[in-house]
This record gives sequence, C-alpha cells and structure tokens, in this order.
Amino acid sequence: MFKLTPILLALLYGLVYYRFSAWRTAKELDVKSTELADPRLKRLTDRMAAALDLPRIRVNIYEIDPINGLAAPDGRIFITRGFYRKYQQGEVTAEEMASVIAHELGHVALGHSRRRMIDFSGQNALRTALAMVLSRFLPGVGVMIANGLASLLAARLSRSDEYEADAYAAALLVKAGVGVGPQKTLFGKLEELTQSRSGAVPAWLMSHPKTAERIKALEALEARWEQA
Ligand SMILES: [Zn+2]
Repeated sequence: MFKLTPILLALLYGLVYYRFSAWRTAKELDVKSTELADPRLKRLTDRMAAALDLPRIRVNIYEIDPINGLAAPDGRIFITRGFYRKYQQGEVTAEEMASVIAHELGHVALGHSRRRMIDFSGQNALRTALAMVLSRFLPGVGVMIANGLASLLAARLSRSDEYEADAYAAALLVKAGVGVGPQKTLFGKLEELTQSRSGAVPAWLMSHPKTAERIKALEALEARWEQA
C-alpha cells in the first residue's frame, strides 16, 4: 500500500486537473467567443450539415490572433479571429475555411477532443508516476526518461488523430460537393505563412504532422475513392 500511494496520488491529481482544465477551457471559450455569422461560409457549412443529416453546424469565432481551429471537449467548434481575418483579407478561400471546420468536426465526431483533455491529464499522472518509479533505480535521469517517454506517447497519439480528422474531413467535403482540393491548397498556404514569417508558426500547423505527409495521405484516399 505504501508503495502504491504515490501512484494513487498522481492519478488523483490527474483527475482533479482534468476536471479543472475542462472547466477552465469552457469558461475561457465562453468569454472570448461569438457565433460566426458569415453568409458565404454558412452556405458551405449548410451543405456539410445536409451531408451529415444535421439541421445546421454552429461555428464560433474565438477572439485570439494565432491562426488556429479547435474543437472543445464539449463538442463546440472554433475558428480563431486571426484565421477568419486571413479569410476576410482574401488570403484563404471560403472552401479552405470550410475544410478547417470539417477537420475540427472530425475531431468531435471521432471523440478526439474529449479524449485529448483526458490524455493531457492522464499524461501528467503517467509522467509523475513513471518519474517516481524510475527515479528509484536511476536517480537524476529517471525524471528525464519519464518526461521523454510521456511526450513521445502523446506525440504519437495526437499525430494519428490528425490523420483521422483529415480523412473524416476529406470524406465530408467530397459528400458536400466541395472536394478535397481546398484541404490540400490550405496546407500549402499555411506552410508558406510559416516560412514567410519566421518564428510565427501558425498554431494549427505546430500541433499537426508535416504538411507534405498530410497531402500525401489525402491523395492516397483520393486514389482509393477513384477506384471504388
Ligand atoms: Zn487537428
């Protein structure tokens, strides 16, 4: 029992932390967001809603500058003000914005957004427990190894989520008559943004796998659908 106590404490900490972060995220999003009201985008989200047999798809604007789209653990979808601005300035097309919305819908539909919050707190618990165990055998480096292992696991998990959300979005966009093209052109544009402004990497790209690999995965899907 004595040996298990630190692990139990770490798990308890993880659970409390999960509840707290979920609450804090929802609160932050409530305060800093409004519903998106854009007729051109609505026409596209209505087509996606029809493809999904939903009455409508609600999208919110999150008032921050970094270019990002996100799916909250409660299933709400957000586009940042910074991203929307790129669209208003004509740098990103309505179809490309729709592809981001479709990608975030994928995270919600596939249960990623909820699981990711759990992953995050679960990771903390795992990290703490591993560090405690490893430190006994490897004083000093045990913590570093535990951190490395936990991060590696997290990166693996989130990467496969991204490919799944891309595939969901591709299928939805094809069904809604938009096609996969805008998804691919947007990846290219985001990559360009990254290079032209060194240091200011769009958040949406940072948490995602390499652009070229994502485009390749989409093309593999397209090829498979063409054969079918
Ligand atoms: Zn994503």
